[in-house]
Amino acid sequence: MRCPNCGGVDSRVVDSRNIEGGVRRRRECLACRYRFTTTERVASRSLFVKKKDGRREEFLREKLLAGFRKACEKRPLPAGTVDKAVDEIENELYSLGRAEVPNTRIGDMVMERLKRMDHIAYIRFASVYREFADLDALKREVESLSVPVQRPAQLPLLPTSTLPTRQRTRKKA
Ligand SMILES: [Zn+2]
Repeated sequence: MRCPNCGGVDSRVVDSRNIEGGVRRRRECLACRYRFTTTERVASRSLFVKKKDGRREEFLREKLLAGFRKACEKRPLPAGTVDKAVDEIENELYSLGRAEVPNTRIGDMVMERLKRMDHIAYIRFASVYREFADLDALKREVESLSVPVQRPAQLPLLPTSTLPTRQRTRKKA
């Protein structure tokens, strides 16, 4: 389990407690001392994804992560952002307490997060997921991104984490 803050691989358990169907652990990163929570569940409590054509397949975190990574490829996102988003979705899915979830629901969860994270990654994912019929449909989706991307074009490697400060210092109209 990588540290969501620095990506370090070593952590120690500072607290552990049983929850329904598993164990929740509070961990501290040995590198940066950041504290985070992990949840371990027994493998038998599997979750299935129901596809549009009615087929079901087991939910795999790796597959969700791969889809996210592909959409976010070469985008200037801070380290750990994608893993954190996948963790959130995974937790949300398991907390539904259902044995089966439609894949559209997972897709919506991904879209919702990508929309906040990075508009290019969002459009990349949406173009596959929504299967835009034509350029107009794609254009409408781009236009629905009401907030223009704040990242200055001349600084493509600027981490997005520096943006809120810029926005805060800007005077409200
Ligand atoms: Zn760390």
